[in-house]
Order: sequence, then C-alpha cells, then structure tokens
Amino acid sequence: MAIHLPNRHLFIDGEWRETVLKKRIPVINPATEQIIGDIPAATAEDVEIAVEAAKKAFSRNKGKDWSSASGAYRAKYLRAIAAKITERKSELGKLEAIDSGKPLDEALWDMDDVAGCFEYYADLAEGLDAKQKAPVSLPMETFKSYVLKEPLGVVALITPWNYPLLLATWKVAPALAAGCTAILKPSELASVTCLELAEVCREVGLPPGVLNILTGLGTEAGAPLASHPHVDKVAFTGSTATGSRIMASAAQMIKPVSMELGGKSPIIVFEDVDLDKAAEWTLFGCFWTNGQICSATSRLLVHVSVMPSVLNACQKTSQPKALCYSVRPKKALHQNFWTDLSNGPKKLKSLILLKKVAGLVQLSVEDRQYDKTLKFIATAKSEGATILSGGGRPKHLNKGFFVEPTIITDVTTSMQIWREEVFGPVLCVKTFSTEDEAIELANDTQYGLGAAVISNDPERCDRVAKDFRSGIVWVNCSQPCFCQAPWGGVKRSGFGRELGEWGLENYFSVKQVTQYISDEPWGWYQSPSKL
Ligand code: NAD
Repeated sequence: MAIHLPNRHLFIDGEWRETVLKKRIPVINPATEQIIGDIPAATAEDVEIAVEAAKKAFSRNKGKDWSSASGAYRAKYLRAIAAKITERKSELGKLEAIDSGKPLDEALWDMDDVAGCFEYYADLAEGLDAKQKAPVSLPMETFKSYVLKEPLGVVALITPWNYPLLLATWKVAPALAAGCTAILKPSELASVTCLELAEVCREVGLPPGVLNILTGLGTEAGAPLASHPHVDKVAFTGSTATGSRIMASAAQMIKPVSMELGGKSPIIVFEDVDLDKAAEWTLFGCFWTNGQICSATSRLLVHVSVMPSVLNACQKTSQPKALCYSVRPKKALHQNFWTDLSNGPKKLKSLILLKKVAGLVQLSVEDRQYDKTLKFIATAKSEGATILSGGGRPKHLNKGFFVEPTIITDVTTSMQIWREEVFGPVLCVKTFSTEDEAIELANDTQYGLGAAVISNDPERCDRVAKDFRSGIVWVNCSQPCFCQAPWGGVKRSGFGRELGEWGLENYFSVKQVTQYISDEPWGWYQSPSKL
C-alpha cells in the first residue's frame, strides 16, 4: 500500500506558513523504523504569530464574524468539516495508522468518531441561541437576572499521540462551537492528521485565525503557547507530569485549565460471570489501541475462585483474529497491513510499540514508549512478579517497535507495575475474596480515570459503580466511549470534563446580567427632604 505523506507547513490565519526558524521534525513509521517525511517544528516565534491571529479572529468585526455570531452560523462550518473528514476517511485512516502505529481498522473507526464528534457539537451549537439569556430566579421582585454564556476567548488545545485526530477533535469541535478561537498543538510524535485537519478547514473556508495548528515539540511550542498572556485558557490532554507543569505556568496568570491526564484503571471480575465475556472485555479493556489508552483497565482484579478459568479463557480468546475485534467485527488488518508497509516503496516509519498475544500481533507508537514498556516488564520480573504470557518482542519481527501483549501475575500492591501507568499492552492481575477487598484494591491508586466491573448481579454492579473513585465507570464492558457522555477523571487523572454538554461548558465564560426593575428609589441614602 503506497502512502504519500503530504508536505505541510504550520496553519496560521487561514494559510500555510513556514516556521520562522525553518525547523522540521522527522516522521517515523513505527513498523519499519524508517523516516517517511517530516512536520514543521514551531517555536515561540510562531506561537506569537498564531496567538495574534487567533486574537484578531476573536474580535474581528466586533466578534460578528465568529465569537458573537449565532451558534447556527458556526455549526455550518462544523458540519462542513465533518463531511470532508468522511469524504477523506480512507486516506486519513491510513495516515493515522502509519503515523501513530495504530492498527488500520482502529484508525478508520477513529475517523468515524471524529466526523461524529463535529456533527454532535454542530447540534449543540445550533441549540445555543435559544438558551441564551436563561433567567435566574431571585428572591426579590425588584430585580431580574439572566445569564449570558460567552466564549472564553483564545484557547490553547494541547493533545497527545495515542488518538491524534480524535483527541484534537474532542477539544476543537466544542471550542469552535462555543465561539472561541483556538491554537491546536498536537503531539510531535503524531501530528500528520492534525495538519490534514488544517487543510480541511482551508477547504471549507473557515474564517482565518479561528483555528490555527502548530506542530512542534512540547518544550519549544507547547510551553510558550500555554504560558502566553493572550491565551485565555489551556485545555490539555497528556501525561500527569506535563499537566502539572502546565498548571504551574498557568497559575502565574490565574489562567483556567482543564486536565485530562494519565490512569491506572481497574477491572473487577466477580465469580458469577460468563467466562468468555469476562475474558473478552478484560482483553479489550487493556489491549485495545495496543494498550495505549489513558483509561486502559490495566489492573485486573479477579475473584480468587475463578482466577485460573478467567486467565485460561483470556488465553483462548486471544487466538489469532479475535480479541480486539469482537465489539465491531471487522477484518483484522494488523499483520498484513504492516507487512505491506515494510515491503512497500521504502517510505514509512516512526516509533511503534507492537505486541502480540498468543498469535495476535498488535502495534503502536514510539521507540521511547517501546523501551519504557520493556523496562516496566523487566522491573516487574525483578520485583518477583510472574510473566504469564508475552513479555517481549515477537520473535519473528526484527524491525519496528513491537511488544507482545503481556499478562503479569503474582503482583503485590507495592510493585511498580501495580502503581504506575505503563501506557502499553501490559495487564497485571491480582485476586480478591470479598467485594470490600475488591473495591479497596481498585481504589488503591493515585489515579481515577476509568474503572470497570463485570458481574451478572445488577445490584452488585450498582454498588461497585458508586464505590469506584473514578470519573468513568463501565459495567459489563470496558472502554466504549460516546461523545454524548462526559469524559474525565478524579485525583491525578485530572479535572474538568470533555465531551457531551460538559465539553462545551469548558469553553464558556458565564456572565450574569442583573437589573433593578422597580420605580422606587433603592433607599440606602435617605432623601435630604426627609432629614
Ligand atoms: P505528554 O504529556 O508527553 O505530551 C502531551 C502533549 O503535551 C504533547 O503535545 C506535548 O508536545 C505537549 N507538551 C510536552 N511538554 C510540554 C510543556 N512543557 N508545555 C506544554 N506542552 C507540553 O503525553 P503523551 O506521551 O503525548 O500522551 C500520553 C499520556 O497522555 C498518558 O499519560 C495518557 O494517559 C494521557 N492521556 C490521557 C487522556 C485522557 O483523556 N485523560 C487521553 C489520552 C492520553
């Protein structure tokens, strides 16, 4: 399969612009480790120009061109973007797969979700106009009050590499729907499809400066963007360490932030389950997208009486085609797709993390991540855990950042593998005897993003859902995500919610307008005539 990587510049003020310092970053195909192209590397100089463009776009024509235009007006652009994404789905899916190391069928699935998310926020934007001036009930009849929801201003949207275009869309679509103007800074490890979003915006005639897209390193482009005095808010998705840095810099200017950070999510499997279903959700919950999902349920808590049968069922389920594909049965393209790439017209590569569990090869991104994952596995071993399956590079693959899906048992709560986010295909397993013990182990983490419970007892599921300390709970499943429902975490997984109506609220400032409506004097000063 021949893939042409478009040669793009930064997208500022509605046009392509070369970076001021003319710096570029290579793009590597993670399956072949070959350089397949490059992307611009923005620096503080480019950030300055982009922020200025976004600021002007926000107030152009007194805001009538965007920020104070009707929601219905902005919705038309969001729908046009959705239509173009759908039109280019096949090409965008391939670019996403080759850039991020994501399996092709999962990347195509993401493109559907991207278009769906733009459509969803177009609907919400259309609904905004009727909701303006919502009255506030006051305890005094002499006053009347209403609320205006106004776009926050210029927003910086900083995103990671595991879902490059989809996680950018989770921010871009609501920010634009609300009337903000934005600068998107995707991850330097996977920016290709975000630059194609720029091309889509150009084609649909999005007013200049409304969305600017700067690719570049976190320290060189992300940091000056997040700390820029004319950026009114930072919406961030990424690691807890980077989130903390951004919060510290935002604190200097009392700048609002929203934070979608890391996780170490639990999945509890009770003794009353159907084993095949439990195995399927356990595997999907941890190994989907190569395990590189913030909400991956990477800590399996299984009732002691069914542990051997659940693990057996996991190994049975993970035969060739299986595991990740049962939710949306599609052809499993992993192996062939990447084989084609490595044989193809040299091109391609980047950083990947590929894995294989009992016959199924999966891959993912980034050499740094590859090394990190292998180190996690080695440390678990040295701390006394048992590598039940997987644990290294698949023997038949010499190139590419591939790691076998790995299941680790004999884990204690003080081990690194229990406490820290791997962000790779590694599942660690512990047993429990009682519901209380399961909950205690599930909540034994500094994170609080997702959590899952698998049981045939609905009352138990309700109890456990309530007891989890997390922002997302899955019952009898793990990972399905809908753009209508709120997404986000507690504790060190962050705060604020994306998606749904909550995602839109992120980009508003709420203004109360309170009016005195009585003809009577207020009466705080006594009239001089009455003295
Ligand atoms: P990362 O923190 O390394 O990078 C994220 C983004 O921040 C990138 O665009 C990067 O260039 C930028 N950045 C880095 N340093 C910066 C700085 N000093 N100032 C401003 N920007 C900076 O994260 P990553 O490796 O790209 O992503 C993986 C992490 O993201 C994992 O921890 C994962 O759990 C988390 N994640 C969370 C969610 C969620 O919804 N909670 C979703 C996906 C990923």
